Amino acid sequence: MEPIIAPRKPVKRSRGRDRKRMPALAKQGKGSIVMSGLRGINANGFGQSYASRGMRALSSRLQRLERTSLKRERTAPQSARAADPDAQKYNLLLAERRQLRSSSSDAASRRHLETLLQDLDSRPMLAVTAPDRPERMPTMTTRLVGVAPDIDANTVTYQQSSGEVPIFGARVVVDVDRESKALVAVNGQLAPPPVRPAIARLSPIEAWRRLADWCAAPANLTDPAVAPTLTWYVDDAGTEYLTYRFRNTQLTPPKGDEVERDADPVACVRHARPGLCSYDYLVDAEDGSIRYYFASAPHFVPSPMCGIDCANELRKFYGLKVGESYILNDPQRDIVTYDYKFGNISEEPIPALPETAMPFPNHDIGDASPAAVSAHWHATLVFDFFNDVLKRNGIDDRGMKLVSVVNVYSGDDTSPTRPQWGNAAWWRNAMWYGQEKDATGTLMSFARHLDIIAHELTHGVTSSSSNLVYRDLPGALNESFSDIFGVFIANWYPEPKPVQDWNWEIGAGLGRNGGALRNFANPAAVGQPDHMRHYEPLPEYQDYGGVHRYSGIHNRAVHGIVTALDGDGQPIIPIRDAALLFYLTLVRLTPTSNFSAARRTLETVAGVYYADDPRREERLKAISEGYDAVGIV
Ligand SMILES: [Zn+2]
Repeated sequence: MEPIIAPRKPVKRSRGRDRKRMPALAKQGKGSIVMSGLRGINANGFGQSYASRGMRALSSRLQRLERTSLKRERTAPQSARAADPDAQKYNLLLAERRQLRSSSSDAASRRHLETLLQDLDSRPMLAVTAPDRPERMPTMTTRLVGVAPDIDANTVTYQQSSGEVPIFGARVVVDVDRESKALVAVNGQLAPPPVRPAIARLSPIEAWRRLADWCAAPANLTDPAVAPTLTWYVDDAGTEYLTYRFRNTQLTPPKGDEVERDADPVACVRHARPGLCSYDYLVDAEDGSIRYYFASAPHFVPSPMCGIDCANELRKFYGLKVGESYILNDPQRDIVTYDYKFGNISEEPIPALPETAMPFPNHDIGDASPAAVSAHWHATLVFDFFNDVLKRNGIDDRGMKLVSVVNVYSGDDTSPTRPQWGNAAWWRNAMWYGQEKDATGTLMSFARHLDIIAHELTHGVTSSSSNLVYRDLPGALNESFSDIFGVFIANWYPEPKPVQDWNWEIGAGLGRNGGALRNFANPAAVGQPDHMRHYEPLPEYQDYGGVHRYSGIHNRAVHGIVTALDGDGQPIIPIRDAALLFYLTLVRLTPTSNFSAARRTLETVAGVYYADDPRREERLKAISEGYDAVGIV
């Protein structure tokens, strides 16, 4: 697994002397594949379009062709020019370059990689890039597009996976010229796609126990902080193993390996600070043997923390130990919670956030800040739901940091009710929580409402996916989807409740006369219309055209769909399916979708989802009936 990193050469733009040197450099500009378990793949393009060998030779004749075709233009008739094979190739090459220039860095990089693998005539590697569909490389997942400023190029990183399962260490970084999108360099390692299906014989928890045994962990060891991910591991001999990857565990490898590891001075430094040392393990998903392990980056060690929340319950969550303090920063989920100390967000500019997440002297913070515990713990639940149930990587599906700010005030500085601010908001990519006094005069944070938090964070999901406009029916749909995941998440933890026991209210105690804000089962109970026959368009200035008014109609359809039971009293659409189907619908809607568009999209998505299901028609009927009942056609 030794990658050979080719030096990255800057793109030469200047004319004259440098330009004359290009042919000599271009001779080195070919790729290489180093055989081992993973195959190192490296190439330089020196700013030239890295086409196949034949095309490259042609490329060096560009100027000559340019001259001769100009000459021909003056002398030869149109038909003769069209028949000239050189001129045809020349035009093809020009067209290709033009197309490359206008394509995205990602598309250009994929094409370069494809061409490179073809050029190296690597049969097993070609399977990686699906030669029958050159525009797609289904096993390559884009991980990141960034600009590497020193070489004036865009850097695109790919993680190779087989299906959904990543291959450990198999990554390729492609640098393309920022303007022409010509290849600058390729560096990385790839693996021939595994031939076996990714079916694990052990459960994650069985694998965890094998690992704990191997590490001789104490008997009271808790479950891993974050569930492991299935990962292909290819050893140096090229044998592939399906493994579970446990990240940042607090388990130390057995002593037998200690001597060898301490011989490495870098490992010594890490080992000198045992509190900061954690390990990643790849545990065979078939026989439980430990295939590979390594010390994780020292600053990414989550520390288990606990504390009392607003409901007076003890909650367990993760933070980070920094020096002698524990801060509310979960490095695995990237969830950070700040104390705003009643700063006023109505000021312009608003007070800055503190430099670090909220610090505490002990991992058990007791009742030092119920607001912070509620905010941090609830953010964890919402993250886990998006991640585990919806398979979404954070709010924006790109691993966005989840920031919560507690003890926030908004309003008049001299108000006698300060610091009471009875609200919470998703604003500037963060959650801001106010607080109100309860009957005993104690300040209670809005962070105590999991359903409200899930509602607000779902607005973040919507704005980074379908981006439904916040007006009229699309706006009411936007509100409804926030309500949907608000109600799902609130009924999901600590364990998903049977649908018969669900609480269908949102914001209990926050509505008029101490009632709820929303009621899926009976929108009329909170003053919302519950059927399309009551819909009348409202002016924009009136609640953005009624976004909080008409959401109840769609909510009631959702209630009907989720609570439709079969003859055995079981939900016709299991709640886990329902969550996924509503999510898949949300991300397929367009900014101006209305309720009918949502119905059609959900029906299409469910039709595909249940394609091979013997109960498909019954399930689709539950959806149609749910919408019919509220007049959404
Ligand atoms: Zn809302």
